[in-house]
Amino acid sequence: MTDFAATRALFDLPEGITYMDGNSLGPLPRSVPDRLARTVTDEWGTMLITGWNDAGWVHMPRKLGDRIAPLIGAAPGTIVTGDTLSVKVYQALASALMMRPKRKVILSDSGNFPSDLYIAQGLIKALDQGHELRVVAPADVSGAIDDTIAVLMLTEVDYRTGRRHDMPALTTKAHECGAISIWDLAHSAGALPVDVASGGADFAVGCTYKYLNGGPGAPAFIYVAPEHADIAPPALSGWFGHEAPFAFDLDFRAAPGIERMRVGTPPILQMVALDAALDAWDGVDMNDVRARSIELSEAFIAGVEARCPELTLASPRDPSERGSQVSFRHPEGYAIMQALIDNGVIGDFRAPDILRFGITPLYLNDKDIETAVMTLALIMEDAIWDRDDYKRKRDVT
Ligand SMILES: *Cc1c(COP(=O)(O)O)cnc(C)c1O
Repeated sequence: MTDFAATRALFDLPEGITYMDGNSLGPLPRSVPDRLARTVTDEWGTMLITGWNDAGWVHMPRKLGDRIAPLIGAAPGTIVTGDTLSVKVYQALASALMMRPKRKVILSDSGNFPSDLYIAQGLIKALDQGHELRVVAPADVSGAIDDTIAVLMLTEVDYRTGRRHDMPALTTKAHECGAISIWDLAHSAGALPVDVASGGADFAVGCTYKYLNGGPGAPAFIYVAPEHADIAPPALSGWFGHEAPFAFDLDFRAAPGIERMRVGTPPILQMVALDAALDAWDGVDMNDVRARSIELSEAFIAGVEARCPELTLASPRDPSERGSQVSFRHPEGYAIMQALIDNGVIGDFRAPDILRFGITPLYLNDKDIETAVMTLALIMEDAIWDRDDYKRKRDVT
């Protein structure tokens, strides 16, 4: 059994704060500051450029990929890290479209994160080959998969409601129709057990600053199924994805395997922070995380529904249909969340009316859930949220 009291002690959580936003930005693992400081002084400061070889910086994208792999059911050597998730979505989608040159339709859903849809829209324009982005309601995805679809591009867990797609079933259907599947695991990696290999995903992408606690701006990851890794054309053909970056050839030749999905110079300081953050997962069983996440989520839903009848559950009631977050709706959701944050419980708000709470067993316990319910109840009962300064929207919600 995973020892969740021990994993909680690995995080530097500010006194008096109940942190329920780890689905958006994970908190600081205690291992990170020293490791970063040592990299800055002992590696960058002392080794200078020799750090690329002597400190192994050049292999960090692959090394981190191999550490993320067991968390999403991928084999070693099938994931690299780098860039941002939006960039990795572009890369996966452009590759997938080149693998289905006769088809023109990208199928996605209205629950997808807007950046993924924007990237598809931009790529379609740049290609100028008559591609179409078809966006259907989440419940209609399965029925919309047919043999005109080039790529099925979905996010497994909906960022607003936490609703979860049936990834193996949809992937199987896509394959039966000859389509390529791209799964965005932004709200899955580190949140629930994922099995990209047995689920048959062709591409998977995700970020590491949410449930993996890599810090603001931490690198993204991309997985390519082994059967595609040597043939998927890397649309962002940068020098680090070249077969021989230091041959400085004038023509691009893709590196064998997953290395071709690298683009340019990796952000070593962010990668070192992520490497230290990933230590928190050593010895953690994702099935234990899932079971604990469901317990905490059920307790939170029951508490809020009993104490705050004005809030409506926006997440699926059946835990098997949720990721690891719980969302409620209220027309004054933004002001309520600001009041909550002001009173030490941090969640976030997603337009138009969603209060979002991340459930992260590595560092959240029953007492946190009680505190969050109690504080929210107080804010609702006394209408503490009803203040002008709580209603003023800030740049990041
Ligand atoms: C968080 C998130 C993103 C963010 O992309 P960045 O490039 O890292 O800013 C994209 N897609 C999904 C599904 C997300 O949840």
